[in-house]
Amino acid sequence: MHAAGKLVVTDKSPASVVWFRRDMRLLDNQALCAAMATGYRVHAIYIVDELTAAPWLPGGASRWYLHHSLVSLQASLARIGIRLYLFKGDPVEILPRFTREVSGVHVVWNYLAEPSQLQVDRKLEAGLKKSGCEVEVFHDDTLLPPMAVQKQDGSHYKVFTPFWKRSRELLLNTDSKLSLRDIPRAQVKPVAFDPADVSALELLDDHSWHDKLHDYWQPGEAAANARMEYFLSDIVADYSVMRDVPAEDGTSRLSAALHFGELSVTRAFARSQEILQTDSKKACKDSLLRFQSELGWREFARYTLMQHPRSTDTSLDSRFETDWVWQQGTDLLSKWQHGETGIPLVDAGMRQLWQTGWMHNRVRMICASFLTKNLGIHWIHGARWFWDTLVDADLASNTLGWQWVAGCGTDAAPYYRVFNPLLQAGKFDPNSTYVKRWLGDEVNEKPIVDVKKSRVDALARYQAMRDAT
Ligand SMILES: Cc1cc2nc3c(=O)[nH]c(=O)nc-3n(C[C@H](O)[C@H](O)[C@H](O)COP(=O)(O)OP(=O)(O)OC[C@H]3O[C@@H](n4cnc5c(N)ncnc54)[C@H](O)[C@@H]3O)c2cc1C
Repeated sequence: MHAAGKLVVTDKSPASVVWFRRDMRLLDNQALCAAMATGYRVHAIYIVDELTAAPWLPGGASRWYLHHSLVSLQASLARIGIRLYLFKGDPVEILPRFTREVSGVHVVWNYLAEPSQLQVDRKLEAGLKKSGCEVEVFHDDTLLPPMAVQKQDGSHYKVFTPFWKRSRELLLNTDSKLSLRDIPRAQVKPVAFDPADVSALELLDDHSWHDKLHDYWQPGEAAANARMEYFLSDIVADYSVMRDVPAEDGTSRLSAALHFGELSVTRAFARSQEILQTDSKKACKDSLLRFQSELGWREFARYTLMQHPRSTDTSLDSRFETDWVWQQGTDLLSKWQHGETGIPLVDAGMRQLWQTGWMHNRVRMICASFLTKNLGIHWIHGARWFWDTLVDADLASNTLGWQWVAGCGTDAAPYYRVFNPLLQAGKFDPNSTYVKRWLGDEVNEKPIVDVKKSRVDALARYQAMRDAT
């Protein structure tokens, strides 16, 4: 069912249908360019697909972001004469039906590098082709097609550094991989649009808790590109150092824009590469390379998920499921979630997350380490909480981040690392600027665990597991 009511399309001339997914942009959008190039009328469709997403249905913060990103996309498409039709349900039923209703003869989309999404794609592609449609599917969500990066013997990389070295080589040696595309020129007059269509998808719940997110985020393609340019002109020079200082605006804050595809990762990489080739200052070079390698982690997360579809719910190192005793503790978990652990940096991070829908990367690592190691609680509980509260919640990156910190994932550190949140605070927030920002003058309760003792216990659990296997 079209979210805004009955679908009425009177023009029966052949049409091209662009299925928008997490590529919510006009710039550098291969699928959109391909649709415009056909010369047919172009219709755009977005489907809220809870079936494929389950059991990782987007959480509240992510749905808030999506709602506003759709409003922005709807307006941008309308300016170039394309109406965005919005649906809720199973794409395998909706897309072919919609295509028939609008006399579609050509259907195009950018695929998502997630195993469950690719299954849907395969079904759709086969069904649409069978019914006589031309189908085009583009790679657009990552810098390189996920499985294009292989070792010389054809096997897959398990460790990030050689993976990224090889990816960079491939990217820089193949000009076409970095080709960027302009916003397609409008073929017809702008069309009317109604933001109420997006509201009909019911992405926002009735409570107004999400109003606060407007203070921190401006979803939409224009804001994403503006932020990227600001980051690359004003922030990036000091990125390699400042990216670890949570009190500073020292990172790109582009994760939500990249997740929803408001900004193409290819453009982010290509723009940073342009500056790298023209700016000779060493510090800036280091920073740009560092930024690119963070984009590389995003690639690696997708690459890993493609190889290990079950890693969203199960530790990659199976010993952590069979031989590890995770602690049960709903009270401790609740205190962690609400920033009431009595450990200032952890509590500040969890409050930042709750308030803004985002948490600084270093603090994400510290909070995740505290939950999984000092409290000994299974990483899945942390991953679920982040999933519900992050505006940038991303299945691949969240899974990789949690498993990496918990020590059970890919590219695990050669030793069992327990971040000491007190030492980390001294190093990365020496004047407590970040802690004060999120905790104010609140006097900390007694810590819910002794940091030193719980670290020793965690290491003992790890040793016991190693001895047992
Ligand atoms: C436990 C844990 C959970 C995480 N969950 C998510 C998540 O759900 N979604 C998400 O996008 N990132 C996640 N990350 C990775 C990282 O924390 C965020 O991408 C980063 O903090 C976003 O801020 P930024 O855009 O300013 O990053 P920058 O430092 O400016 O990095 C640029 C971009 O590179 C990518 N990136 C950076 N670090 C990583 C990383 N470690 N893994 C994958 N991609 C990375 C992001 O797309 C980011 O926008 C998680 C990390 C941890 C430790």
